[in-house]
Amino acid sequence: MADRQPGAAAADGRPVRPTTVQLTGWGRIEPSTATLAAPTGPAEVAGLLASAPAGGVIARGLGRSYNNAAQNGGGLVIGTTAMNRIISFDREAGLVTCEAGVSLEQLMTAGLPAGWFVPVSPGTRQVTIGGAIAADVHGKNHHVAGSFAQHVPWFDLLLPDGTERRVTPDADPALFWATAGGMGLTGIVLRAAVQLRQVQTSRVRVDTVRTGDIDETMAYLSATDDQYGYTVAWTDCLARGRNLGRSVITSGDFADLDDLPAAARRDPLAFRPGARLGAPEVFPSGLLNAVTVGLANEAWYRKAPRNRVGEIQTIGTFFHPLDGIRNWNRVYGPAGFRQYQYVVPFGQEELVRRSLERISVARAPSFVTVLKRFGPADPGLLSFPMPGWTLALDFPAGTPGLAGLLDQLDQEVAEAGGRIYLAKDSRVRPETLARMYPRLEEFRKLRAELDPQGILGSDLSRRLGL
Ligand SMILES: Cc1cc2nc3c(=O)[nH]c(=O)nc-3n(C[C@H](O)[C@H](O)[C@H](O)COP(=O)(O)OP(=O)(O)OC[C@H]3O[C@@H](n4cnc5c(N)ncnc54)[C@H](O)[C@@H]3O)c2cc1C
Repeated sequence: MADRQPGAAAADGRPVRPTTVQLTGWGRIEPSTATLAAPTGPAEVAGLLASAPAGGVIARGLGRSYNNAAQNGGGLVIGTTAMNRIISFDREAGLVTCEAGVSLEQLMTAGLPAGWFVPVSPGTRQVTIGGAIAADVHGKNHHVAGSFAQHVPWFDLLLPDGTERRVTPDADPALFWATAGGMGLTGIVLRAAVQLRQVQTSRVRVDTVRTGDIDETMAYLSATDDQYGYTVAWTDCLARGRNLGRSVITSGDFADLDDLPAAARRDPLAFRPGARLGAPEVFPSGLLNAVTVGLANEAWYRKAPRNRVGEIQTIGTFFHPLDGIRNWNRVYGPAGFRQYQYVVPFGQEELVRRSLERISVARAPSFVTVLKRFGPADPGLLSFPMPGWTLALDFPAGTPGLAGLLDQLDQEVAEAGGRIYLAKDSRVRPETLARMYPRLEEFRKLRAELDPQGILGSDLSRRLGL
């Protein structure tokens, strides 16, 4: 049921007929039923938009947003994954143009043999270009590279009135920066250009450090920001007292040819996404709880080296460890899980510490807890990143007291001038969101002008009045 992805074209190349399906996001918590179409080209998308049902339309890529940004209960969902052609690739300049349903994995597979990697990669490469633009995604290199849209020279957008427009940040900054981070609500991205970044090898030279508490974690991250292109801390969110905020920090950069052992130098740009193990649909709800996550966190922390320098890792190990298991989200059982991510400005270190305290005291078990420093923001009206500390957590949906805990965190984050990430949100209150995103009114006004009939809409946009 729930996390069915949009189908591609049928074996004979015809588009799959629209079907009624139940969809969720990656967290599998709020299913809704919609008509799902899987067009294979822009003309079909335009046709679907022109005959939009009363329930409206939203685009959906690979469904990796955590909750319902790509759901539209009672309306139409346009799956883009059958529009997955790379149109051109300039191997000298590293500029790729592609359809919106192309995944980051496809770009890696196409780019790496010529020495080009995606400019920004989230924690999964199973993300489409349309989804990466719409959420203006960030990666471990945000502090030096910013977010995804900063590497997009243009995209072609199908507007709600059916016109297609090439949008660039120079000629049409308002539409560009409303679409980047705009969660699919300004139009449907059909194609885009992406500027890749040059690499000598497909391996990463990684330093790992284990820190004893939150002060040491933050001090290390602050001191080493300018030494690494990529960095992130995995934090033990259940550790308490003098261990509060203890972390394993991995930082790295793409390895040069000379860094590789002789055997690897023969094929320095190798990239084999490979077959992935599947997780069965048998995990009971409640398997992940404060006890089991506490034990797993302890084991993870203990097994990490205290200080290891220059380990050579693959792209998969360093950037996308969770991609190794297909459907790993099933581990949370049928009840699913809630992701929560905030950013607060630098200077709010006490807030970060307090939130970890609240989480550990509440015994709210998040296994994938990530702390990182963001660099400068881009002009996206609803783009999430801003300079400051970002903390991401995932909690089993049935965690006792979770709603109250996260409401409290929301209030503190808003008070501190921070915000939560829409691609992950499942429960922020609309009035709190308005405090977090001061340009929300501007976004709403632009949307009212672009889409007076309200053709575009999602479960997320209706809940939050975006
Ligand atoms: C394991 C994992 C790790 C992650 N790590 C990170 C991370 O480190 N950093 C980060 O920023 N995010 C991260 N994410 C979130 C993910 O990168 C974003 O939610 C991304 O938008 C998902 O892309 P998608 O193709 O699956 O889009 P979907 O989830 O299908 O859709 C997301 C949004 O994009 C819109 N959209 C999709 N295609 C189009 C289109 N063609 N035109 C217009 N709008 C469109 C949808 O309407 C929706 O609003 C992670 C997710 C997972 C599952």
